[in-house]
Amino acid sequence: ATETHQQPEVNIGLVGHVDHGKTTLVQALSGSWTDQHSEEMKRGISIRLGYADATFRKCPGVDEPEAFTVEETCPDGSESDVLRTVSFVDAPGHETLMATMLSGAALMDGAVLVVSATEEVPQAQTEEHLMALDIIGVENIVIAQNKIDLVDREQAVRNHEQIQEFVAGTVAEDAPIVPVSAQQEVNMDLLIDAIEREVPTPDREASDAARMFVARSFDINRPGTTWEDLKGGVVGGSLVDGTLEADEEIELRPGREVEEGGQTEWRPITTEVRSLQAGSQSVDVATPGGLLGVGTGLDPSLTKGDALAGQVAGEPGTLPPTHEAFEMDVELLDRVVGEDGDEIEEISTGEPLMLTVGTATTVGAVTSARSGECEVSLKRPVCAEPGSKIAINRRVGARWRLIGIGTLK
Ligand code: GDP
Ligand code: MG
Repeated sequence: ATETHQQPEVNIGLVGHVDHGKTTLVQALSGSWTDQHSEEMKRGISIRLGYADATFRKCPGVDEPEAFTVEETCPDGSESDVLRTVSFVDAPGHETLMATMLSGAALMDGAVLVVSATEEVPQAQTEEHLMALDIIGVENIVIAQNKIDLVDREQAVRNHEQIQEFVAGTVAEDAPIVPVSAQQEVNMDLLIDAIEREVPTPDREASDAARMFVARSFDINRPGTTWEDLKGGVVGGSLVDGTLEADEEIELRPGREVEEGGQTEWRPITTEVRSLQAGSQSVDVATPGGLLGVGTGLDPSLTKGDALAGQVAGEPGTLPPTHEAFEMDVELLDRVVGEDGDEIEEISTGEPLMLTVGTATTVGAVTSARSGECEVSLKRPVCAEPGSKIAINRRVGARWRLIGIGTLK
């Protein structure tokens, strides 16, 4: 089926409370990825990125919404027409750190909020994730009311009303609520229809300089691989502007920390693109949208274990500056999200904050705080443009909680 595969053109986040069915839904829409990509390297890249692609299709001559499908063959035996390929970013289920979700959100053009019909609304992460979508500015949302096979009609209606009440006044206020069973693959056609309507492919300028947000990085070599067979380090993430081509030179910022004469400093890394993996296929030219694996000429020890996650890649000399400290405008939330709902106090000088900028997460110490703005000194520098949005987290009890949003000055 490789000839019908296209590069994914849009990134859709799967968000919602743990066990509400995000992973099952991705599987229902994309098929099992391990069957699709037998080749070792491809499999390694897609699984470690935590994403899967789905090609949405339509059966000719069939009424909507029944015409929408992910199958290549229609019930009448004819071949379905390809609409587009989307890339699903599956938010990690057991993650307590809001930041991981937020760094994923930087790569999302839209989201499917999965809400189980079997539980009261909202559960903690349902609320947190919706808040995060609001803050990051992900406005194209579809709500999947999942597990309808487990509830009766009355429960389904009551749950639907709870969802409506919960999203009133939020970014998801007008989002369609589609009842589905991911496990039984019920109403997948309605869900595809809703995603096609609500999450359009963004306009991107393929002529701009390449800009990639790195979300993961790894070493794809098996232990014990001999030197001659060793493959270069791989970085995974999303191209948000421009194109990347095989053999092209790229720069990564902030790069790596080098020590010289007792001083440490961050220096950009330059390398070449050796291979490109877009969706389920190798390509010569990668275009924006979807998640991308880039095989590089880097020593794999530099990329292993997500060492380069949070960095920005692009054409040498075109990347934004690296900041070891920065000033930001601050807008605090009214209350901490969650059961306790405590009021949020002003940021104070000296306190540690966890900051997410693009796909980078770093701890910063507040060196100066005024009302509506503050200055932070970072443990790990970030590469970001003025105007970038920053998720601000404060330690409350045992965990980091989202308290506001910053704008880089
Ligand atoms: P995630 O944590 O949101 O990714 O949730 P999973 O996709 O891992 O699903 C959690 C559990 O719910 C698994 O045991 C699934 O088989 C089950 N599940 C997911 N969707 C449905 C559904 O529509 N109906 C039923 N009966 N079970 C489901
Ligand atoms: Mg999951």
